[in-house]
Amino acid sequence: MALTGLDIFKLLPKTNCKKCGMPTCLAFAMALAQKRAKLDDCPDVSDEAKNKLAAAAAPPMRKVVFGSGDNQVQTGQETVLFRHEEKFHSPTILAARVSDKLTGDDFKQRIEAVNALQFERVGEKIGIKALAVVNDSGSAKSFASACSAAKEASDLALVLVTDSADAMAGGAAAVKGRVSLLASATVETVEAMAKIAKDNGCPLVAKAGSIEALADLSEKIKAAGVEDIVLNLEGLSRQEQMYNASRMRVLSLKKVFRPLGYPTISFVSEGDADTQMAAAISLICKYSGIIVIDTVEPWAVLPMLTAVMNIFTDPQKPVQVEPKVYRIGEPNENSPVMFTTNFSLTYYTVESDVEASRVPSYILVVDTEGTSVLTAYSGDKLNEKTVADAMTKFDVEKLVKHRKLIIPGYVAVMSGKLEEATNWEIMVGPRECSMLPKYLQEMWN
Ligand code: SF4
Repeated sequence: MALTGLDIFKLLPKTNCKKCGMPTCLAFAMALAQKRAKLDDCPDVSDEAKNKLAAAAAPPMRKVVFGSGDNQVQTGQETVLFRHEEKFHSPTILAARVSDKLTGDDFKQRIEAVNALQFERVGEKIGIKALAVVNDSGSAKSFASACSAAKEASDLALVLVTDSADAMAGGAAAVKGRVSLLASATVETVEAMAKIAKDNGCPLVAKAGSIEALADLSEKIKAAGVEDIVLNLEGLSRQEQMYNASRMRVLSLKKVFRPLGYPTISFVSEGDADTQMAAAISLICKYSGIIVIDTVEPWAVLPMLTAVMNIFTDPQKPVQVEPKVYRIGEPNENSPVMFTTNFSLTYYTVESDVEASRVPSYILVVDTEGTSVLTAYSGDKLNEKTVADAMTKFDVEKLVKHRKLIIPGYVAVMSGKLEEATNWEIMVGPRECSMLPKYLQEMWN
């Protein structure tokens, strides 16, 4: 369990010297417990107390990183069971399976299909983040060749999947220089697999059929010198998998049971694309850190990525678009100008309705810290000054020769003050932006 303020206080010097900037050691202990202070701020804390406090302060779930450069990915470091308690830190990584039985053009086409699984959704780039090379052939030589070919053909992070220590040694050597996730060590192969992971500086997956066996195995891997571990509970029905995923999350985060304090990986390769999509989305909801999928159908992968995006959105930080002027179609000096806020959902709704109108237009996006029109207006983030400032900042008057600004119907009350602040004629648009196409066609054209 995390230490309370009083637990921490017992380990402090109790001199109330104030060097930490707090009036008393107790105040410092309370601040530390609430993560409002850093242990380093107290210069007099003993090494023994430091070790105890650092161990207790370590996150309950370890962060595991693999891949290189811009394609490095991270999993783990979660601190809460439910997103609204704080936020989830590491979006589920989707990895596409590549069999080492594929050769030549088949292998190349598969990699190309995976590399193409990148999309843009509400202004954010989302996509497959890793390639899982799987030793279906059973041959160490074929596995090493496939790992090497995957490294050459794709910059994505790699997961090397084999139960054979010989094949893993060859595969890890073939991708040396790119930190890859090695999957998996079992109770039979733990020493050999841990040595390969340690020698190559790679994280290692522990694979077992029960939570208890998995905890024992992760302890063995850690004792062998590998700190970065990912857990794979294998051989269970989907229902058992879901149930145990929740248990593991509770044990690691609420009970701070360190042997289970690691992210998890799941494999979804059975069934058609529909079945895999349903299974993967269930696992995303049940805390899977990495999911290896077989399908590369874009229509099946996009919903999985959308689920990841939705679940891992920070609830305290609205998704925002960049404040600027957006051109819809090919607007000219006679085109309408309207404004909205930089709350992503608001902007994209307005954008699609303006597109539907077929009236080329300018949309000025005002920075309201990601809040919607009415929320921003109520919080005084959307007022005549913020709109006028945005018009000046983005040189709106140079875009058109008229001086008419369409404003959202919900803030019609701003009209008078906005007209004074900008010297533009204010046209009040519809309250619901679904009425924008009709409005633009009738009022502008
Ligand atoms: S610096 Fe350390 S000893 Fe001094 S008041 Fe702060 S916590 Fe106490």
